Amino acid sequence: MRLQNTLTGEVEDLVPVVPGTVGIYVCGVTPYDSAHVGHAMSLIVYDVLVRYLRWRGMQVTFVSNYTDVDDKLIDRGAQMGIDPLELANRNIAQWEAEQERLGLLKPDVRPRVSTEIDNIIAMTAEIVANGFGYVTPSGDVYFRVRAKDDYGKLSHRNIEDLRTGTRFEPGDEKEFPLDFALWKSAKPGEPAWESPWGKGRPGWHIECSAMSRRYLGTRFDIHGGGLDLIFPHHENEIAQAEAAANDEHVFARLWMHNGMVQRDGEKMSKSIGNVVSVEEALSRWSPDAIRLYVLSSHYRSQTNLTDEAMAAAGAGVERLARAATREVPDDARSGRAEPPEGARDSDFIEALDDDLDTSHALAVLFRLATEINRAIDAKRNADDVRAMQATLGELAGVLGLSLEQGGDDGERADAAEIEALLVERTEARAARDFKRADEIRAELDARGIVIEDTPQGARWSVKR
Ligand SMILES: [Zn+2]
Repeated sequence: MRLQNTLTGEVEDLVPVVPGTVGIYVCGVTPYDSAHVGHAMSLIVYDVLVRYLRWRGMQVTFVSNYTDVDDKLIDRGAQMGIDPLELANRNIAQWEAEQERLGLLKPDVRPRVSTEIDNIIAMTAEIVANGFGYVTPSGDVYFRVRAKDDYGKLSHRNIEDLRTGTRFEPGDEKEFPLDFALWKSAKPGEPAWESPWGKGRPGWHIECSAMSRRYLGTRFDIHGGGLDLIFPHHENEIAQAEAAANDEHVFARLWMHNGMVQRDGEKMSKSIGNVVSVEEALSRWSPDAIRLYVLSSHYRSQTNLTDEAMAAAGAGVERLARAATREVPDDARSGRAEPPEGARDSDFIEALDDDLDTSHALAVLFRLATEINRAIDAKRNADDVRAMQATLGELAGVLGLSLEQGGDDGERADAAEIEALLVERTEARAARDFKRADEIRAELDARGIVIEDTPQGARWSVKR
């Protein structure tokens, strides 16, 4: 598999540190509020990466953290009059329930700052001992950016470029404006822990360096996150990890960054009021539609979430689901059938091996769906068609698509029952019992099922 590496700017072969295994670390949320679709979309990308590598036989360890100690949480907790850690717990519980509804795999480890304090203190102490960190009179610990010659290598800028626009704030005890906090001394009302530098709490960046080392080792395969995290967060993660090890060849080998989601052409922000929460998204669109929407563009591109795009994604899901579950007549035997050029396993693998090109992988599925419908209509060999349906289901599963018609709200349409009602309706119409035929249509309509009469007979789909 080849992936675009932000660190080198090149598309590179994924060559695991330990053959046959892949360690992946993805920065998680700071749970000061409910998760929004941007968070969901970012996780969907890495979810597909993990599913795909596992399907290819790799043993994947997937780690994603929660930043449950942070300025934003402390501020929001103070506004709401609740303990910031309690607020984090609440939002994490909600987000994890939503992740399950979205069909996201559980990371193998989900570390939190509040339970990794010893680990974080240990790494901070190593950085200070190696001369890359210093303690101020107030008990803050800073990273000494100028001690690291290659600082800026991920964002491809040098220290002089990066310091432009930064300056000392009043009361700063930093040696240099770009220096960043590894440890912050305790302030009244904030969560704080004992440390060699007095009571305090970690800065934002150190947690990811410390957690990834603990769960994936000093050298691991893939680090992911949104493009907005490249600087300063990921830049600082690299600096810390290398400073602690006193070695410039540790930490993540490949850096993957996913693009941001816009809403109707604008950045999602609280001030515009166009932030779509995961809760809202799940109330409007099925998990499969949300996922298909994300996967229909390249993970590095910026995507624009619109109602039209989501309707198209929903229709796409229906198309795939219908082909995967369409009844194949048992007596069908008018010739063999097989996946055509561009719709085979090998095409699917080629697409995802090429920097996780999910939109091409989806095109393979749509080609296969078209062929399945064509083969059913032409009454091709039933075993062949069912084999194609099984392949479609399997490959869709690698992308995390369930292809269950009717969404995920517990009111899932029972396909067999609907098919039976459609047969009854066809029979009623043939017997000129239009009253019964209309009743059946009305009943299905009430259940959110749309009937479409085609020359091949009635087809149904779930209303969007
Ligand atoms: Zn991080």
